[in-house]
Amino acid sequence: MKFIVVDIDGTIADTTTRGNYANSQFKKDSEIWWDALMDPSLVYLDKPILFSGMVLRIYYDRGYEIIYLTGRPDYMREETRKWLENNNFPDGRLFMTPSLYISSHSDIVSNFKGAAVRKLNRMGNIRHVFDDNGINLMKIAAERIPDLELHLVQENSEDWWKKYLYTKMSE
Ligand SMILES: [Mg+2]
Repeated sequence: MKFIVVDIDGTIADTTTRGNYANSQFKKDSEIWWDALMDPSLVYLDKPILFSGMVLRIYYDRGYEIIYLTGRPDYMREETRKWLENNNFPDGRLFMTPSLYISSHSDIVSNFKGAAVRKLNRMGNIRHVFDDNGINLMKIAAERIPDLELHLVQENSEDWWKKYLYTKMSE
């Protein structure tokens, strides 16, 4: 089993509209702001970041299993699944942070991601990780998994994925 691990928010989903909505209602980073930001009924507002789905689709077609590894809490699962399907992202397992309020604590998210990667590494061969958060990548790097390539994706950037598509996927 070969795995591709990919973050969702800021990496393949542009959550600007959902963020603006939360900002307009509540004080940023307050608990209620996080509740608004992580409201499952607002997931449909997210825009897919162009070219990211194409890259993941190519890996999928080449026999990799796609693992979506996100700080989103588990109660957003159904809507996140639907969003991935509606926006033509390839099928894959969805690892979500197992708590209602955990997303307000980024160290908990990065620890969760490190632990998830450690577990995956026992089940197969993780080849690439994509995340727009350097702290998450550092946690994952600390697992010292051989031959693993970590990619710091530019936040909300279709250009980053376009460049990756044309430089890396033709190799
Ligand atoms: Mg992210």
